Amino acid sequence: MSDCLFCKIIAGEIPSAKVYEDALCYAFSDIAPQAPVHFLVIPKAHIASVSQVDGSNSGVVAHIFEVIAQLAKEQGLESYRVVSNIGEQAGQSVFHLHFHVLSGRDMTWPPG
Ligand code: AMP
Repeated sequence: MSDCLFCKIIAGEIPSAKVYEDALCYAFSDIAPQAPVHFLVIPKAHIASVSQVDGSNSGVVAHIFEVIAQLAKEQGLESYRVVSNIGEQAGQSVFHLHFHVLSGRDMTWPPG
């Protein structure tokens, strides 16, 4: 999508700190980290949010979770949180599906 920030990051039009990349997804450091470890994993194909996941595109979501598990193992993360915000009230600010991976500090529940 031409006006999507994360599509521009995937295309290399906006710089990012790459953590991982394959044919289906891209992972990069969050520009405003909320924990000592904070990266985002996104599908290369534009999907606006979890609310747009269905039988036609859910395979990439399963793949992303495999990648998250792999990256967490590689980085030695024993405890971490995976978050996806859906809609403005929940805190979504970029409307391209992304999973935050946060680790390295105590976290509270429920979230604020
Ligand atoms: P959300 O608010 O859940 O939609 O998450 C969007 C995330 O994207 C936020 O944590 C931002 O800090 C992050 N973000 C915004 N612009 C960039 C960028 N250019 N590079 C890396 N992360 C970004």
